[in-house]
Amino acid sequence: SIVVTGATGHLGRHVVEQLLEKVPAEQITAVVRDEAKGADFAARGVRLAVADYNAPETFDGLFAAGDKVLLISGNEFDKGRVRQHQVVIDAAVAAGVALLAYTSAPGSLTAALADDHRATEQVLLASGLSYVLLRNGWYHENYTENLAPVLAHSAVVQAAGEGRMTSASRADYAAAAVAVLTGEGHENATYELGGDETWSFAEYAAELSRQTGKEIGYTPVSVEAFSEILAGAGLPGPFVAILAGVDASIEKGELAVTSGDLSRLIGRPTTPLAEAVAAALKD
Ligand code: NDP
Repeated sequence: SIVVTGATGHLGRHVVEQLLEKVPAEQITAVVRDEAKGADFAARGVRLAVADYNAPETFDGLFAAGDKVLLISGNEFDKGRVRQHQVVIDAAVAAGVALLAYTSAPGSLTAALADDHRATEQVLLASGLSYVLLRNGWYHENYTENLAPVLAHSAVVQAAGEGRMTSASRADYAAAAVAVLTGEGHENATYELGGDETWSFAEYAAELSRQTGKEIGYTPVSVEAFSEILAGAGLPGPFVAILAGVDASIEKGELAVTSGDLSRLIGRPTTPLAEAVAAALKD
């Protein structure tokens, strides 16, 4: 089977949907924490497996020899994600899966956010499994799904200076994962994935202005000021530090991934940022 963890998350849902277009439903297993959240998949013939990265025993016997597995990185920053991911990798080794693909972060990213990903990559490489590193760049949706304060203040406030970056839609990164899971010849490959366009927050603000008809500007602020703004908006301290660190990395160009791997893997151009903006404004 093709087994997808984090299947009921944003990225995982795109992966399962796109897999359903390519392979029979009974060849897909969605790993979920909450069976009810996966009910729509089950109704379409996808096999559900209930497991939690925090409970190693729930992965006992979940994988079978020859499976192709997509390990979608977790989002519980306070629970030791490397140990969580190791639980999945250990179970995959025990079962003798054919391939394990992991959603990592760009090799160029030095922000603290990347630490868990680098450490998980080390665990995976040491496991002896055939692996694929899907080093996903930033999602368009990180911005386009958080437009409310931008529209309220007519300002894009970030701490990335004039830094330029590439981003792509979750559906694009999901398509790359599906290409790896359903294709051949990806064993032990590392893909640096990013969108085709390189953009700055000033350009993003200009695009928002164009599509809304309002004057929306970019206000670059210091990492300290940005952290205060995020904390003031109620974000927890560790998350504030992560987001501020990411902006510092964007300023240094560390999220500009120009390898072309993403459009090559998916066989089409990546989704333009303007299209993600239009979709978000329509909602
Ligand atoms: P989501 O937060 O939507 O999904 C995270 C998934 O991980 C969910 O399906 C969640 O399960 C699952 N999960 C979390 N903890 C556990 C656990 N203990 N056991 C089993 N499953 C668990 O994130 P996205 O889908 O948008 O992104 C996927 C991953 O990519 C994120 O988890 C994060 O690591 C990373 N990321 C990347 C970004 C980027 O721009 N490249 C931005 C943000 C995150 P459930 O559905 O039950 O909640």
